[in-house]
Amino acid sequence: MEEKKVILKGTGIRQYFPVKGATGKAVKYVKAVDGVDISIYEGEVYGLVGETGCGKSTLGRTLIRLLDPTEGKVEIMGNDVTKLSDKELIPVRRQVQMVFQDPFTSLNPRKRAGEILIEVLEIHKIGKNREERMDIAMQMLQKVGLLPEHFYRFPHEFSGGQRQRIGIARALILDPKLIVCDEPVSALDVSIQAQIVNLMQDLREDEGISYLFIAHDISIVRYISDRIGVMYLGHLVEEAETAELFSNPRHPYTQALLSAVPHANPHIHKDRIHLKGELPSPIDPPSGCVFHTRCPYATELCAQRQPVFEEITPGHKAACHFAAAGTGNVS
Ligand code: SF4
Repeated sequence: MEEKKVILKGTGIRQYFPVKGATGKAVKYVKAVDGVDISIYEGEVYGLVGETGCGKSTLGRTLIRLLDPTEGKVEIMGNDVTKLSDKELIPVRRQVQMVFQDPFTSLNPRKRAGEILIEVLEIHKIGKNREERMDIAMQMLQKVGLLPEHFYRFPHEFSGGQRQRIGIARALILDPKLIVCDEPVSALDVSIQAQIVNLMQDLREDEGISYLFIAHDISIVRYISDRIGVMYLGHLVEEAETAELFSNPRHPYTQALLSAVPHANPHIHKDRIHLKGELPSPIDPPSGCVFHTRCPYATELCAQRQPVFEEITPGHKAACHFAAAGTGNVS
């Protein structure tokens, strides 16, 4: 079988933010990402889900070096980019782009849509002259479903969905290998969400791009992703191909997330798993398994020993002492 090519690989990624005391010195750390291993393959859509505050956006930003990791290694197309300077990162940035959650604040309000795209081309020295750059920008607007006249409009003259199309065009214009999409549709109306997700699907098929698709809504992630990773309190707790994750969730947190997804057939009744308590603080995460304070199946061992994130069946990983035995499997 042909081996899949890894586009992005993160190993042992930690992202700690200092909490400073009265003297200005760090007294504690917010452990936003705490030891994540993740790989994204050529042409795949990897969906990253978890509730707000679980560290998924911070992980996405760290993987493309918008944030320097506190610890760990990031390889893009086999090159370690962890220690590169800002200048050395410029060619890497062409390969890996980002689409942000809020298309309004991520676009310069004083620039017309066409100029926003031309600026990106100038920074990366693409196109011989302004005329050629205008041509490339115009074509890109059309590729994402906008019209030639949109070239001359300012961001405030567009709807939310159109602005997100400009955000996608800005990422796509550099012909990247991977686009990290951080909650790209959560600020949009439901009807527009589907249009944007369909556009991203089409572009993926046409251009062969990989996506890291970050969202809190597992239904949207399911629709677009080949594989899904589930994050909880800075840790990746489960990872599997989409169909496998939905039919055979092995981590109790994933089981709880899936139990909350409404079924298309209202006559099919599912017992919802209600988790006790709130998401603990990443400043002072629980000992052992970070999920043990909310897990319905926790034992004494869970509070003492951190489970290893390991493969239970080919391609299916989970971080639970009892995942292999299927303890707590409610599917
Ligand atoms: Fe629950 Fe224990 Fe598994 Fe953690 S290790 S998910 S607390 S059963």
